[in-house]
Amino acid sequence: MLAAALCRLFPGIQLDIGPATETGFYYDVDYSRKLTPDDFPAIQAEMERIVAADYPFERVEVSRGEAERLLRESGQTRFKLERLADIPEGEPIIFYRCGDFIDLCRGPHLRRTGDVKAFQLTSVAGSYYRGDERNVMLQRIYGVARESREALESWLRQLEEAQKRDHRKLGRELDLFSVQEAVGPGLIHWHPKGARIRAVIEAFWREAHFRGGYDLLYTPHIGQAGLWQTSGHLDFYRENMYAPMTIDETAYYVKPMNCPFHVQIYKSKKRSYRDLPLRWAELGTVYRYEDSGVVHGLLRVRGFTQDDAHIFCTPEQIEEEAARTVRFALNIWRTFGFDEVTAYLSTRPAKAVGEPARWEQATASLESALCREGLPYRRDEGGGAFYGPKIDLKVRDAIGREWQTTTVQFDFNLPERFDLVFTGADGREHRPYMVHRALLGSLERFFGILIEHYAGAFPLWLAPEQVRVLPVSEKQSGVAADLERRLREAGIRTRLDASAEKIGARIRDAQLEKIPYMAVVGAREALQGTVAVRCRTRGDLGPMSTEQFLAMLQEEAESRSAVPRVAKR
Ligand code: ZN
Repeated sequence: MLAAALCRLFPGIQLDIGPATETGFYYDVDYSRKLTPDDFPAIQAEMERIVAADYPFERVEVSRGEAERLLRESGQTRFKLERLADIPEGEPIIFYRCGDFIDLCRGPHLRRTGDVKAFQLTSVAGSYYRGDERNVMLQRIYGVARESREALESWLRQLEEAQKRDHRKLGRELDLFSVQEAVGPGLIHWHPKGARIRAVIEAFWREAHFRGGYDLLYTPHIGQAGLWQTSGHLDFYRENMYAPMTIDETAYYVKPMNCPFHVQIYKSKKRSYRDLPLRWAELGTVYRYEDSGVVHGLLRVRGFTQDDAHIFCTPEQIEEEAARTVRFALNIWRTFGFDEVTAYLSTRPAKAVGEPARWEQATASLESALCREGLPYRRDEGGGAFYGPKIDLKVRDAIGREWQTTTVQFDFNLPERFDLVFTGADGREHRPYMVHRALLGSLERFFGILIEHYAGAFPLWLAPEQVRVLPVSEKQSGVAADLERRLREAGIRTRLDASAEKIGARIRDAQLEKIPYMAVVGAREALQGTVAVRCRTRGDLGPMSTEQFLAMLQEEAESRSAVPRVAKR
């Protein structure tokens, strides 16, 4: 319909392709002038007329000669003839007709144009023909489509909100991270403020794991080809791995996963049933190949640090371990301010390794873990990996988007390939159960989600700078410097801004940098030994003593609360 409207409004326009996207559609076109959002009302009105006319979409299969004739007749020769030539000999050539418009298109389509309920054009951007920068630059017009007017409006609101929160934009504005052209795509640089937040996340993560009965591991970044041969990665995962390097005539690969290293530590000594369960976690940095065209900010990268863990246990322990893992994950997500979690349980596919009885037991343990935690879940029958059933958790963010995050994945394959055993109470050797677990996913992706969830306004416990100390004039700068030092020594992340700018401008700067608290020291505060406290979200909290202020900050930070705990005084 977009293409039909464009042809009616802009004679001579040349159409390339126009597929559906996850959220709507686009069409690539070439025209003698630049199309802009100012053209959208006219295009949209023409599309509405096509909807109102309720044309049927008619599928027409034609011969190659007929197809060429149709394209020449409709004047679409520039790109469509080449697209026609792409269709291999012997494959059907399909056109769709809709009113007076006909387009080379694989389909399928709706029944009639009247079935379209709600759509809107959203943007226009440059796009190289066939995605190749040596080719002509086309104009790509994007739109969204939804099943109803209300659904479209709520989607557009979400889109607008999402653009405001885009982690790439906020990452730049708040100076959190970057990708450097000189280094390469998909490789993240954490700037001081982002690194501060990461350090807080990591410290909390480690502490939670120790409390949760895990041990931590550190493992190398590279391993010999033989290791990856045994693990199966070279057979099944090679396209995600980078080319090997040669050291002493042996090929080494940079790790795409941490599992084989954890398995080596398991194998480093004899294990008895009394040693199990073993819960081993690692913030392990891995590298995986992603096409440079799909890398995206922090969400899709080539190098990242997984918050990985592997659990080795006996058959008797798997139910308890599965439940523990799910409970542990939920607690972590809640601490980071994500309360809404849904689960997906993927079961045995047709082609699978491992005994059916083990699959059944593992699947039942995952299901019972979900029930025990009262988590709503959906079963994906046959959707599991060939090596074991799994649970995926999705969390909902502040603007209602769902993010796939935690995975709890059983593995019947690696224990087999590496011949992992433990000595049972019967004195015989048995195969342990192995579970892979990534909780936050990766620190990079999690940071992206976190930035967008909080729109860059991190709660006190995560904020890179928690308090900005602001003397009203130069006269108070000594007192303010003392306050800054006192807060810093008490473990508060703080900075003194004693620049010559007016106090109002400095408060505005701190507000723009989304700093949770501002401690303003004027003549009266300096005299009384107090501080005028301003909260990012609640405004002026009035004067308080340094002790009161410090106690308030510590209480709020220690509680890891997502919202300020203090009321206006
Ligand atoms: Zn693993």
